[in-house]
Amino acid sequence: MKATAAKMAKSKPASRWQDAEELRWAVRHWSARMGIKAPQVHLRKMRRKWASISGVGRLTLNTELIDLPKELGEFVIVHELVHRLAPNHGKVFKSFMHAYLPDWELREQKLQTVNSKTPPHSCNLY
Ligand SMILES: [Zn+2]
Repeated sequence: MKATAAKMAKSKPASRWQDAEELRWAVRHWSARMGIKAPQVHLRKMRRKWASISGVGRLTLNTELIDLPKELGEFVIVHELVHRLAPNHGKVFKSFMHAYLPDWELREQKLQTVNSKTPPHSCNLY
């Protein structure tokens, strides 16, 4: 019983990114999990979107993601990487999202309450 209480006391609230390097690491991690080539990651401040991915495998992430809970940045990364497998937001795209992040819809909703980038998706494909 005591051990459980100690564990609970240790658990942090929403976990945050330490730095840009950790975001880059997450991109490599998810690329490996999906079996795709890891894209080149660029970070810059973007006014209207969270991220974009080009056909040649260049992923641009908004630097504002670093200040958000990890689960949201992770959602954006997975969303963009799934675009390497499915170019639009159709059925195939959604089934990949469900496979990799079962709670992706919830994360997407949370992301939209944080900031009003181009709705309803985080990328520029709509
Ligand atoms: Zn998209």
